[in-house]
Amino acid sequence: MIPKLEQYATYVGKAQIRKLKEEAKPLKGRHISHINSVATGGGVAEILNSLVLLMNTAGIKTGWRLFKASESFFQVTKKFHNALQGEKINFSARKKRIYLEEIEKNSIMNHFDDHDLIVVHDPQPLAMIKHLKKKQTWLWRCHIDIKHAYPPVWNFISRYIRQYDGMLISMEKYKHSNISIPNFIVQPSIDPLSFKNRDLSQKEISRLLWKQNIDSDKPIVCMISRFDKWKNHDGVLKTYAKVRKKAKCQLVLMGSSASDDPESLQIFADVNHKVKKMKDVTLITHHDDFLVNALQREAKLVYQMSLREGFGLTVSEALWKKTPVIATNRGGIPLQVIDGKTGFIVHSPGQAADATLKLLKNPKLQEDMGAAGREHVKNNFLITRHLHDYLRIFNQYLPAEK
Ligand code: UDP
Repeated sequence: MIPKLEQYATYVGKAQIRKLKEEAKPLKGRHISHINSVATGGGVAEILNSLVLLMNTAGIKTGWRLFKASESFFQVTKKFHNALQGEKINFSARKKRIYLEEIEKNSIMNHFDDHDLIVVHDPQPLAMIKHLKKKQTWLWRCHIDIKHAYPPVWNFISRYIRQYDGMLISMEKYKHSNISIPNFIVQPSIDPLSFKNRDLSQKEISRLLWKQNIDSDKPIVCMISRFDKWKNHDGVLKTYAKVRKKAKCQLVLMGSSASDDPESLQIFADVNHKVKKMKDVTLITHHDDFLVNALQREAKLVYQMSLREGFGLTVSEALWKKTPVIATNRGGIPLQVIDGKTGFIVHSPGQAADATLKLLKNPKLQEDMGAAGREHVKNNFLITRHLHDYLRIFNQYLPAEK
């Protein structure tokens, strides 16, 4: 059943829902669309799956368009993605050509004439604005940390960003001083009613894990992330190798690939090769929201030791399920992992191993951190707060029609 706005009152109270409805009222009848490049895999798709429905249940006509492109395009945009996160790349004329040609194709295939507002997510569809901007409002929603972008790519990308009416970023520190369009801070969120986050009974959890041959008699530690070099599977494998010398446990690595990420096969092959030599490691590569849910609930702790991170929805997902997180302090992670309270911030596999042993040996600490994590997410990172942020921004750009 599709969740209605009222159902979220269980988590945030009736007054909050009434407020959201009031904020949505002036936007009734407005036509808005989001556009991004993947339907599943990764945090953006995760958010849009819930947010777009919720905007419709709030009475705003909201669509979701997918940017359709070739493998070559996604190879180029993955390079852009890496460069925007600070990596030096070979930024050739060929890459620009491929990018701009697919942008033009998608611009021909999409029509926004009757729209009031378009939200473009991330760099893949960014430059469509140059072909399609008319009288509607265009907002660019950037989900990654672009503060230290590789200058040649930044110069190319930023000329399109400047054509937007506003830009939405996840954290204050991602603000770019040479972009003068209005910036809004919108932190990501999780949906407590989605397949991935809704309550599960112990029987359902056990069944989901049993189907993967996971016997939870041995304590589970896990990582759930796309196969991406910035996610640092290697750091988690090194941590686990250290932990295993001192405690009994098993590692579950779950990671599907996003369809716009051609590098993931190589990362997967590398991880697969390494885990073959290790004991009690389960590698899961198919997409299954209920299984993610069950794992995040059953695990004693979750790792998110990213080298770069936009926000890290996996962290909020685990905390919501009362599971402490051991993580690096990258991107939005420290907003979620309060060191010593909702989990541990670590700087090396050695520290991560120490934190793991501490948690594995101390169920009371696990429980206290779990309770603090759930409360922290409830107060800050639920989809209702996210909807409120969007409504506030939309109302600013689309004043009520008289
Ligand atoms: N995810 C998933 N299956 C996987 C790996 C990841 O469903 O095998 C989900 C994960 O639960 C989360 C999202 O993908 O909802 C990842 O979002 P995050 O912000 O952590 O990272 P991103 O992939 O966007 O960089």
